[in-house]
Amino acid sequence: MPGKEKATSGEVSIYKFYKMDNDKLSRGRRECPRCGKGVFMAEHKNRSTCGKCGFTEFKRSDDSKKEANKT
Ligand SMILES: [Zn+2]
Repeated sequence: MPGKEKATSGEVSIYKFYKMDNDKLSRGRRECPRCGKGVFMAEHKNRSTCGKCGFTEFKRSDDSKKEANKT
């Protein structure tokens, strides 16, 4: 079946692309601590903001590992 073969090929490439894109997203973007998983924060020059709840997290160049929510 030529039609089936074509469909399978397309499905595979889409799946590969999705995996790559998803991996890139989870690495480069932060999830909102308020909204939880699935809600990513928008990246700005020196801060990240959540478009859903408005949470803002400022980035620190030398302290990025210790990002406890101190208020
Ligand atoms: Zn949020």
